[in-house]
Formats: sequence, C-alpha cells, structure tokens
Amino acid sequence: MILTPPPNAWVCTACGREFLAAAQEHRTPLHPCPAMKGLMTPFTRPGVAAAVRRVAREDYSMGQELQRDEDGKVAMAVVVTRDDGEDRAILAPTAVVDLRGL
Ligand SMILES: [Zn+2]
Repeated sequence: MILTPPPNAWVCTACGREFLAAAQEHRTPLHPCPAMKGLMTPFTRPGVAAAVRRVAREDYSMGQELQRDEDGKVAMAVVVTRDDGEDRAILAPTAVVDLRGL
C-alpha cells in the first residue's frame, strides 16, 4: 500500500485566498495578490497570524525594467511577517541586454 501525504494548505492574510500545494512542494508559494495590487505575495499557513506589507523602491531606477503594481507604482518587495519569522518576495528589476552592438 502506498500512502499519499495530504496536500499543504496555505492562505493569504491580505486577501483571504486559499491554496492547496502538493505535499512534495517544499517552498512557500506565491500569488498575484489583489490586496497588494497584483504584486507577487507569499502565502502563510492557515491559523498563523501574519502582517503583509509592501516595500517601496527607493533606489534610482537608472533605466531598469522595474516591477510595478496595478497602479504603476514601483515596489521592491512584499514582506509577510509572522511571530516566528518572515517570508519576503523580492521584486528584482528585469535584466536587459542590448545585443545590437555585438
Ligand atoms: Zn493575497
């Protein structure tokens, strides 16, 4: 007999969305959160108190392809803070290479 482990339940404390991940999945899943205006946001385990906040980008953009929310505002990260730690989705700029001169 092969026993199948149950899926891992996740919830977003910002928008309330629920998600079931495969039991073999060992990373915190992300989703485009409507409460964070579409920014990729980590889920939390059900029943765990957590605060979700966005981190505004304060660096110079210098022509980089930055990640923006639905209002076009640039964000650097989304942070989920729990009593025992935090998860952070880093919204890094997209690398751009100009191959015309090669
Ligand atoms: Zn959400």
